[in-house]
Amino acid sequence: MTDTSAGNPPAYNQTGVNYHDVPKRPVSGAIIDAHTHTQKPKLTAEFLRAADAYGITRIFTMAPLEDVDALRAAFPGRFEFIAIPRWQDVGSREDFFRIWHQRIDAFYEKGSRLIKFHMAPGSQKRFGATLDSPEVQDVIRHAYQLGYHFMSHVGDPKAWFGPEAKYKTADGHKSFPEQFAMLERMLEKYPDRVHLGAHMGGSLEDIDALARRLDRYPNYIVDSSATKWMVRAVAEQPRAPLRDFFIAYADRILFGSDLVVNEKFNYEHYLSRYWVHQKLWETDFSGLSPIEDPDAPAGQPRLIGLKLPPDVLERMYRLNALRWLGVKVLGQPME
Ligand SMILES: [Zn+2]
Repeated sequence: MTDTSAGNPPAYNQTGVNYHDVPKRPVSGAIIDAHTHTQKPKLTAEFLRAADAYGITRIFTMAPLEDVDALRAAFPGRFEFIAIPRWQDVGSREDFFRIWHQRIDAFYEKGSRLIKFHMAPGSQKRFGATLDSPEVQDVIRHAYQLGYHFMSHVGDPKAWFGPEAKYKTADGHKSFPEQFAMLERMLEKYPDRVHLGAHMGGSLEDIDALARRLDRYPNYIVDSSATKWMVRAVAEQPRAPLRDFFIAYADRILFGSDLVVNEKFNYEHYLSRYWVHQKLWETDFSGLSPIEDPDAPAGQPRLIGLKLPPDVLERMYRLNALRWLGVKVLGQPME
């Protein structure tokens, strides 16, 4: 499935980058991807080829429960599984929560120790629930009692909030800053667990608030996933203070891609995300991003690299995942 139709460049490669030509990295060693969505082995194999090409070894995935055993059998030692609810065909709201409770136990039996709460404004509206809702609080308590650690997606890109945007307060949505109050209540309530905030905790566009949150909650960590969003957030801000932020909080940031395995994506698509992340964190690249982004302010988005120091990259790529997700979450050292 290579899109060469009518000379239009594909969404994943607007600028003609050769993604097969993996740039040389300033640091050696394996890279752990803390945030992916894989599924059936046949489709996941294509994604793994791309991960192999870019030196990604261990991968944390939010695969459906039904695919866990098959993925483990097909790719031994490659994946760790993050507990998620069943999103499709769940019937009523009551059924959704009842099935979620069952899955918490089932994922736990299969070795999962991290549970994901997707409470971005869109999902809050879809399920009529927030992190504060009694049904969700029951799920959190159940997971806590089993020994789970927590992962959360509570924020979305800042551009999606506002009177002209997707999330209007007139439609009952919270404002961008208000969205995080429920997260802080959860961090307050369960300080003895690791809390992984997806997509830089949803707050790369507000690093002062993110820094305060990281300072106040020592078990709160974040992942660098969501390629287009991260590219935009970096390009739109002054580079020096942002780079200083990554250096200051280098022990709390884990590498993640947010790659989603789906039949509509091909090998080149998977490669494109790892290529862009590499440019973003490792280099001082300054030019157009090859990935199409409908949320970019005008036309093709810019990609500005932060060129993080090697010791920061090593922590982000591997050491933080080994320490936080391996030792603390899984309770055992990870290779
Ligand atoms: Zn994700």
